Amino acid sequence: MSEERSLNFLEEIIEKDLSSGKYDSIHTRFPPEPNGYLHIGHASSIHLNFGLARKYNGKCNLRFDDTNPTTEETEYVENIKNDIRWLGYSWDNEFYASDYFETLYGFAVSLIEKGLAYVDDSTAEQIAASKGNLTEPGKNSPFRDRSVEENLRLFSAMREGKYADAEKVLRAKIDMAHPNLLLRDPIMYRIKHEHHHRTGDAWCIYPMYDFAHGQSDSIEHITHSICTLEFIHHRPLYDWFIEKLGIFPSRQYEFARRNLSYTVMSKRKLLQLVNEKYVEGWDDPRMPTVSGMRRRGYTADAIKNFADAVGIAKRENMVDLSVLEFHVREDLNKKANRVMAVLDPIKLVISNYPEGKTEMLELENNPEDPAAGKREIPFSHELWIEREDFMEHPPKKFFRLGPGLMVRLKAAYIVKCEDFRTDADGNITEVICSYIPESRSGSDTSGINVKGTIHWVSAAHAKTAEVRLYDRLFKVEDPSNEDGDFKDYINKESLQVLPAVFIEPALASASAGEHFQFLRKGYFCADTSSTAERLIFNRTVTLKDTWAKEQKKG
Ligand code: ATP
Ligand code: MG
Repeated sequence: MSEERSLNFLEEIIEKDLSSGKYDSIHTRFPPEPNGYLHIGHASSIHLNFGLARKYNGKCNLRFDDTNPTTEETEYVENIKNDIRWLGYSWDNEFYASDYFETLYGFAVSLIEKGLAYVDDSTAEQIAASKGNLTEPGKNSPFRDRSVEENLRLFSAMREGKYADAEKVLRAKIDMAHPNLLLRDPIMYRIKHEHHHRTGDAWCIYPMYDFAHGQSDSIEHITHSICTLEFIHHRPLYDWFIEKLGIFPSRQYEFARRNLSYTVMSKRKLLQLVNEKYVEGWDDPRMPTVSGMRRRGYTADAIKNFADAVGIAKRENMVDLSVLEFHVREDLNKKANRVMAVLDPIKLVISNYPEGKTEMLELENNPEDPAAGKREIPFSHELWIEREDFMEHPPKKFFRLGPGLMVRLKAAYIVKCEDFRTDADGNITEVICSYIPESRSGSDTSGINVKGTIHWVSAAHAKTAEVRLYDRLFKVEDPSNEDGDFKDYINKESLQVLPAVFIEPALASASAGEHFQFLRKGYFCADTSSTAERLIFNRTVTLKDTWAKEQKKG
C-alpha cells in the first residue's frame, strides 16, 4: 500500500485502536469458503486483510470457513492457498472453522444452560411463517419454553444422529419482536447427515454462519473482522453471541464488495460457467478468478495496484474492467520484454538483399528497463509482416507500406515498396521492397526520415505458435442485473484462436507464464500448457484500450 494516499476508514479505526491502547497489535483473517476458486473480489479482500496486518505489524490468519458440508472440496482448499501465495502473501496460521466444531458445540450448550437457546421441532416453513416482517412482530414457537434439561437432552440427541435432516433445529432465544429480523430467534444449528471434507461423518449437526463466524473470530482473537457489506445487519447478532458467551470481543467491520464490469463474480455462477463448459475451467483466461487472470498474464502486482487504486468503499459500486486493464498494462510495460510476432502474415521480399544471407540485429529487450539487456534477431531476404501494414491504395497519412511508400523495419533497415503480387482473387500475397543499406538502425547515415516503423519476423528463421486472443466474457456491463439468465449475455466471440502465427526464434524457449510485449500487438503470456513443441500464447491485454472506441462504433 502506498504511503502517499490518505488513510482508508479501516486504517483510521486501527490507528485509533492502537494509539488508545485498546490493542497492542492487530489480528485479521481471510475466511474463504472452500466452495470454488478465488476471484478478483477475494483478491481485494486478501490484499486488504493481509495488507493491514503487514502495515501494522500484526497477524493475518487464513481460515477456511468450512461449516457447510455440502459444497466443500479439498481441491478448492489447495487452489486457494496457491492463489494467496501467488498474490505475495503468507498466513500466520492456517485454520479451519470445522476444527472448532467441538468448541462451538460447547458454546451452544452453554447458551442452552443460560436459557438462551432452545431446540425447535417446527418445520422450516413454520419457522419462516412465524418470523413476521418489518412491520409485524413474529410469533413465539410452541417449543420456545422447553426446559433447559429437555433442551440439553434433545440437542445431545441431535448430535448423536437420532433425528433426520430438518427434523429439529437449535435456535437462539432472543426476541421474536426484534426490529432486526435476524435477531428473531435465529437458527444456530441444523441437522445434515452429510460427509464433511475434513470431519468426515463425525458430525450430523452443523452450525450456521452466524453461529460460527464470530465465534471463530473470537477463538482466534481476531481484533478486526472485515467482511462485505451484506453482513452489516448480522453485526448485532455477531455481537450478541460474543457478549452472551463472554468470549474474546472481536469486532466486525464492513466494506463494499468489489464488483467488476463485464463479468460475474459469484462462485455459484462461475461454477455454472465451468460445469456447463462455457469456459475451459476455473482457470480459463477469461474468468475473473485469480487463477484465470494469472493464466491470462495478469501479474500479482497489477492486481494489487488495482485494488489500492480503487480503494475500499462503504457503498457498493461497479468498477470498470478498463481500470484493471490499465494497471495490467502499467505493470507489464515495466516487466515484459519486447519481441516480434506477426499474427496475420504476408510475405515481404527484399529484392536487393542477398538471398541466403543472415544478419543478426540487436533489439533492446525492454526500453523501460535497461537491466533487461539486448538480444539478437536474424534478418534476411524474406520476412513476414502484418497484412494490415500494407495497403494497395493507402489513404493520406498511412505511414506504413503501399506502392512507393517507405517504412522502417524495427531494429533493421528502411525499405521502400517497389511492387506487390496478388492471387487470382486479388488478395495480396507478396510485397516487394528494396532496402537502403545505409539505414541500419543504430548506424543510420542515410539521411532519410520515415514516419512509420513496423515489426517483422525473418521467414527462414520464424517459428510458429498458436495465439489465443481473448475478449470480455460478457457483452453487457452487469450480466447479473439483466433480464433472464446471465448466461444469455455471454460474448460468443470472447476467444479467437490463431493457429499459426510467426514468432521470432528467441520465443521458442518461452516458459509457461512468461510475459512479453508483442510489439504493436499487445501483451502476451505463454500459456500454462505451452511447450517447446507446441507454443501457445495468450493475449493478456491490448496495448491500448480499444474497447471504448469499438463500443461507440456499435
Ligand atoms: P461469492 O459470493 O463470490 O461466493 P463469498 O462471499 O461467498 O463470495 P467467501 O469465500 O465466503 O465468498 O469469501 C471470503 C472472503 O472474501 C469474505 O470475507 C468475503 O467478504 C470476501 N469477498 C468475497 N467476495 C468479495 C468481493 N466481490 N469483494 C470483496 N470481498 C469479497
Ligand atoms: Mg460466503
